[in-house]
Amino acid sequence: MKIFKRILIAVAVLVILSQVPFAYRRYMIGQTADKIASDNTARRQIEDARFDEYHGAIHAHSAIGGHSNATFDELIAGANAAGTNFVVMTEHWSDAYDTSAMTLSGQHGNTLFVAGNEIDTADDDRMLMVPGSADAAGLRRLSTRDVAAKLHNEHRLALVTYPERFHSWRADIDGVEVFNLHTAAKNINRFTAFFDLLWSGSSYPELVFARSFSRPDENLAKFDSYAEADRATLFAGTDAHSNIGFYLLGDETGHKFFGVKLDPYERIFRIMQVHVLIPKGTPLTQDSLLAAISDGRVFVGMDALGDTSGFRFRFGDRSMGERASVAESNVLTVDLPLKSRVVLYKNGQKAAENAGADHYEFKADGPGVYRVEAYREGLGAAFEAMPWIMSNPIYLAPAP
Ligand SMILES: [Zn+2]
Repeated sequence: MKIFKRILIAVAVLVILSQVPFAYRRYMIGQTADKIASDNTARRQIEDARFDEYHGAIHAHSAIGGHSNATFDELIAGANAAGTNFVVMTEHWSDAYDTSAMTLSGQHGNTLFVAGNEIDTADDDRMLMVPGSADAAGLRRLSTRDVAAKLHNEHRLALVTYPERFHSWRADIDGVEVFNLHTAAKNINRFTAFFDLLWSGSSYPELVFARSFSRPDENLAKFDSYAEADRATLFAGTDAHSNIGFYLLGDETGHKFFGVKLDPYERIFRIMQVHVLIPKGTPLTQDSLLAAISDGRVFVGMDALGDTSGFRFRFGDRSMGERASVAESNVLTVDLPLKSRVVLYKNGQKAAENAGADHYEFKADGPGVYRVEAYREGLGAAFEAMPWIMSNPIYLAPAP
């Protein structure tokens, strides 16, 4: 045999061997996807006499604010296809024009868009301002505390994004983005993600991402210490830009050849959504949505691992985000659409843990800030490192 032929055969064998782990992972991810699909058909229906539930995304960008080439058409199509009830747009500011006035707002197909901004402050903090304003660019000259106070005077929400590099925790903020999907997706190993997406991407793209996520310990600790002193809303941001990918060839007009886009809107929206509770009979509008976010009637669901709709964390009749006195009841209840492991936190410390059920009752151990995290069971360790559900707190005060 000619040496050339031998080399060719050796290279072919190496290429085939290198793909064995990805083929195996495709098989395993396929098994997981089948289990999730069959679990979703057997979900428990949970009653709620007080609230209707909607789900959507907070923190999204288009080409209007830079860092993205995405069009409104792409955004609307992605949000509609993912079944997203709402998207809170947060365009970067521009000195030349009002990006919040130019971005998507109002109802488009099945999705309500709310126009906000992502802003910078003189303390080098980043926040989301909702709704947005023509002042967005100028806020970078004010301190974070002054920005938060100004936004409250104007009845706008001031939400912390990137808490890992936020400094001004004494400012009066409305919420903390404890998980940022864009950052998490960017940190995925692109080499293995490329082959995983080649093998599994057409069938299970959301799961390729979901298996790489882990619990945002530091951000949750920051949220917990803030919430212990002052009520705030825990949420996850999609930070969707539709701009992560890699391309072997492309031209100046943005045409891409032989490339993989890792984060199209529909995929990012399908991985994880923010679920909000709106009083029964009240329609989903910009006002009712922002009131729910402001009041903490919110939970974060990693719906790619199983539809989280119906999850409830309550104290008697009280909902997430509400204050109650310990005299009202002594039981915190958790209802889940699927059996899962639940961890109860009190003031940021693990207070109780239980598994194997879809309904739990925990005895409240005196006044404190209580929230829960739920984790899927039986999907394998890679899918259990990240909470399937993160609730907002219920705030228990001493008996009067
Ligand atoms: Zn952003």
